[in-house]
Amino acid sequence: MSASCIFCRIVAGEIPAEVVAREPEVVAFLDVQPLADGHVLVVPRAHAACIEDMKPAEIDALFRAVTRLAGPVRKALGAAGTTIGINNGEATGQTIPHVHVHIVPRWPDDGAGSIHTIFPRRTSKSLADVGKAIRAASGD
Ligand SMILES: [Zn+2]
Repeated sequence: MSASCIFCRIVAGEIPAEVVAREPEVVAFLDVQPLADGHVLVVPRAHAACIEDMKPAEIDALFRAVTRLAGPVRKALGAAGTTIGINNGEATGQTIPHVHVHIVPRWPDDGAGSIHTIFPRRTSKSLADVGKAIRAASGD
C-alpha cells in the first residue's frame, strides 16, 4: 500500500467510497466524477502504477472482476453496453497512479464516441515495421 495513494486508502477503508464489490484481490467502487451514471472503477488491492507492474495472478483477478461486473453494471443502469478502458501511464491521462479499469455504461445516442474517437490517427510507420518492433521488444 502507498499511504499517499487515494485508491490504496479506499481499498483500506480509510476513505469512504460507494463500493460495489469487495473481493480478495480487487475492489470496485463508483467514480466520484462519473462520466455517466454507473461509472465504476475496478482496482487491484495491491498498489501498481501501470498494468506492466502487476503480477499475472493480480491481472487475472482484475479482469475476472471486470468481466463479472460488466453485466450487473449494464443491467442496474438499463444500459445498452459498456465502454471498458484503462489509462495506462501518466501520459495517457491517468490521474491516479494506481491501476484502475473504467466501466462506463453506454446508451444509444449518449453523445460519447468509441475508443477510436479519442485518437487523431496520426501514424507514420508501416504495420510490418511496428509488428517487428513489438515482437523484438517482447523477446519473440
Ligand atoms: Zn495505490
